[in-house]
Amino acid sequence: MAALHPFLDLTGERFGVPTFPWGWSRLFDPDLRTKAQLRAEGLSIAGLEVAGQLKWRSNRAGNIGGVRTANLYRRSLARPVRPLSPARERSLARAYLARCTCTSCGELHPYCLPTGNGRRCPQGCQSTSPQPQAAA
Ligand SMILES: [Zn+2]
Repeated sequence: MAALHPFLDLTGERFGVPTFPWGWSRLFDPDLRTKAQLRAEGLSIAGLEVAGQLKWRSNRAGNIGGVRTANLYRRSLARPVRPLSPARERSLARAYLARCTCTSCGELHPYCLPTGNGRRCPQGCQSTSPQPQAAA
């Protein structure tokens, strides 16, 4: 078969999996989606096998040979992202709050506290020590 495009490989003969240039996959197989496209539809790639890939030229730093790839998955096999049940959500929120709460003074921080210091205020407990702290 004459090469229509250097990135077009419908059988996966050259690239291992069916490969399409960016924007072409829908012409050949309208069921294929990237992870981001599935997420936008509220679908998850959990448990899905890679059904193909997109390849496109890009000069963005960090890619090999100026070519980027993205895996493709079958939309027809994708399952919805499982919504959290209210009970599970509450329990996660409680666990998160616990990770952000100082075990010594009970101060709630906007970030998770490290376990290394026993989950206490990283700069020292403000509520129990009123002295102004030294500049970091
Ligand atoms: Zn504290």
